[in-house]
Amino acid sequence: MAHTLINARPAPASGASASEGGAPAVRPAGALVDTYGRRVRYLRLSITDRCDLRCVYCMPERMTFLPRKDLLSFEELDELVAAFAFFGVDKLRVTGGEPLVRKDAMELMARFSRHLGAGLKELTLTTNGTLLARHAGELSAIGVRRINVSLDTLRRDVFERLARRDSLDEVLRGIDAALEAGLHVKLNTVALAGVNEAEIPELITWAHARGADITLIETMPMGEAETNRVEDYLPLDQVRERLQERFTLTDIPFNTGGPSRYVRVEETGGRLGFITPLSHNFCESCNRVRVTCTGRLYTCLGREDGADLREAMRSDPSGESLRAAILSAIERKPKGHDFDAGRLSTPASPRTMSHTGG
Ligand code: SAM
Ligand code: SF4
Repeated sequence: MAHTLINARPAPASGASASEGGAPAVRPAGALVDTYGRRVRYLRLSITDRCDLRCVYCMPERMTFLPRKDLLSFEELDELVAAFAFFGVDKLRVTGGEPLVRKDAMELMARFSRHLGAGLKELTLTTNGTLLARHAGELSAIGVRRINVSLDTLRRDVFERLARRDSLDEVLRGIDAALEAGLHVKLNTVALAGVNEAEIPELITWAHARGADITLIETMPMGEAETNRVEDYLPLDQVRERLQERFTLTDIPFNTGGPSRYVRVEETGGRLGFITPLSHNFCESCNRVRVTCTGRLYTCLGREDGADLREAMRSDPSGESLRAAILSAIERKPKGHDFDAGRLSTPASPRTMSHTGG
């Protein structure tokens, strides 16, 4: 399709959503709807590729980070958010790398928060929690309501082995500070065979005792990691079966706009999510795109399709090329990723999660 939609008006906040399979839905004016009828309303934006941890499944110890000049400036990041909001994207998740290690990250978050109520309905953050104690109050003050904190273990030795840094205490302090600041916390836990497998029930009860949700994630073949993903891979079907020996799990329709399927754990009253990119493809309902800290738009986590939005912004200050690049990339959004549990030893994508923005 030609890029005549660059003059489109922003979509109404609660426009039609993607059709269930079959023919594409009627395209709401100005909305980002792909050729499979999925409406994109969720942007995950990485603001840095740097991190103060080195989780073994995510990046090598000697990770080479990008030169700072390659990163989008605060102005460019904000321009991007405005452009996506114009197209009806109403949920922004800021991620990384570790978003809170970017210099003046809170100033940037405050800029993004100005789009709340003016396009954006939700501004949220995924963090490893190490710097959260310092920033939780301010995040709440600027309008962040929910955050995801990654926590794979409550054991200091396991944490140090997994993250290659002894930072569990800071993370736990960060989670406490977030809860005290009134933020709703969801823990993200990558389930790893023989590493934190036995601890999963304890992590669930720990989270729920604090009023936090918890989501288990299967390890994904992203980037070269110094770990054996075939050995680490723990299918969540198996985890769920084992959990059912101990807990009563009731499927619930709860949906945060992400790929998690939720159950309520009757014994704790808390919510438990499962993200299963390998054992169950979640692409049919995918409503999201990712933009890296260098402005590369990826329309699918496991594929290379996308667009160079930095070039579009830098070559055309009017913003038209940016909007055209976004529209044309959405037109090409692939039907799904091709992660495959049988091919875990070779990355499906050469990009690490820290680069793409997990
Ligand atoms: N640094 C922040 C954090 O750890 O929450 C945000 C970025 S991190 C890349 C986002 C999420 O991706 C984390 O929950 C992390 O556990 C997850 N992740 C990283 N590499 C992964 C992989 N290969 N497979 C599955 N999840 C991964
Ligand atoms: Fe850093 Fe997050 Fe990757 Fe861990 S998962 S190394 S905390 S970016």
